[in-house]
Amino acid sequence: MSGTDYPDKTQVCIIGGGPAGVIAAYLFALRGVSVVLLEGMKDFDREFRGDSLHASSLEILEQLGLADEILEQTHSRIEKLSLTFPNSVITMADFSAMDTKYPYVAFIPQEKFLNHIVEKGKQLSGFKVLMGAQVRELKEANGKITGVKFIYEGNEHELDAGLTIGADGRGSTARRLAKINLVKTSPPMDVIWFRLPLPTDTEMQEAVSGRIGSGTMIVIINRKEYLQVGYIIMKGSYKKLREQGLEHFHEVIKNLAPEIANTITEIKDWSQMAILSVVTGRAEQWYKDGLLLIGDAAHIMSPVGGVGINYAIQDAVAAVNQLAGPIKEDRLTISDLAKVQKRREPAVSIIQRFQLLIQQRVISGALKSDEAFSPPLPMKIISRIPFLRKRLAYFLAYGTRHEKVQNI
Ligand SMILES: Cc1cc2nc3c(=O)[nH]c(=O)nc-3n(C[C@H](O)[C@H](O)[C@H](O)COP(=O)(O)OP(=O)(O)OC[C@H]3O[C@@H](n4cnc5c(N)ncnc54)[C@H](O)[C@@H]3O)c2cc1C
Repeated sequence: MSGTDYPDKTQVCIIGGGPAGVIAAYLFALRGVSVVLLEGMKDFDREFRGDSLHASSLEILEQLGLADEILEQTHSRIEKLSLTFPNSVITMADFSAMDTKYPYVAFIPQEKFLNHIVEKGKQLSGFKVLMGAQVRELKEANGKITGVKFIYEGNEHELDAGLTIGADGRGSTARRLAKINLVKTSPPMDVIWFRLPLPTDTEMQEAVSGRIGSGTMIVIINRKEYLQVGYIIMKGSYKKLREQGLEHFHEVIKNLAPEIANTITEIKDWSQMAILSVVTGRAEQWYKDGLLLIGDAAHIMSPVGGVGINYAIQDAVAAVNQLAGPIKEDRLTISDLAKVQKRREPAVSIIQRFQLLIQQRVISGALKSDEAFSPPLPMKIISRIPFLRKRLAYFLAYGTRHEKVQNI
């Protein structure tokens, strides 16, 4: 590879430096496996894709001796997951009741988290990262994927790899090129994302606040330096919202979240906002000979519950636990790759069913309602019974399969 100090050949090539790819790369290098991480963007300051690190991820970082330094970064925390309805506040999950060193959800900006791990990775001999490297093709020989072709600084490069991992997110190029089918579900919502300055007239008490009005819904995340706001709308209704004009939009937000009434007027143009179509889905098969998909490339997660990052990290841990040994001993087979899907898919399938339920029963119900939306009965019951709030916290924090790093 002219012009770079990266090898032509590696044991593992990872496409995509999101949470799944970065953690997998770091763990492979820790296990003494040579790894090249190819990230398409030049830096990690990407479009907002969530910040929440649950106890499961923080415990993995603790195993790696990284939790304390990552938690030193400016961040916010929640101990309870609450939703504000027009006539009530419902607490769904109580993380503070969990028996763990990390009885909360930490909101750490992804770019800081990813940068930190990559900087640590660079200290390991087998770890290489190439930022701004866009994978365009998979190399194939005798029906086996043997590496990638990618564009870097305007030139095409090739990299041979014993194993290629597609950790390239919801629109995965690896998945498309390998012709792996994704079974999609289309939640009935789109999200309009925008940033606002922190209000100067009121102190934002909560790290995250979710508000449900009459046919409206908003999530506000306090990123300490600014607010990240998601306004949730029925799928396909963005055009109508725009036709109603910006002043109408400001009024809706002011009614829903009075604490940002003075700053919402900073949005002076629709171009200051990004519309994201929420899509979820799961690949039928997460692997082919020489290729494994992990994270959103294998299963696109909805933002509901703020768990996607954590499932991506758990996939990475499970993949390295399963594959590092066979790779080092040069005996990796397709059945090793199948074992990763077999281990992770049941837990992913359960959380995706839960997300779907919330989307259909709560989000869709709230958005369709012309009147003050009242929480469904099961939510009211959970919010009144501490044991159930604690169970739900455990479910969101750990899922049904808690991965731990092995052999480090
Ligand atoms: C709007 C939104 C909000 C969300 N909020 C939360 C939240 O609060 N908490 C939470 O836990 N989850 C949240 N999620 C889900 C979460 O973002 C994903 O589940 C998680 O990011 C998946 O991680 P990943 O590493 O698999 O993929 P990603 O984070 O998507 O990373 C994929 C990486 O691959 C790179 N890439 C793509 N194609 C190529 C290519 N061809 N070559 C090289 N690199 C490539 C991309 O640049 C990207 O860096 C949210 C999702 C959305 C859409």
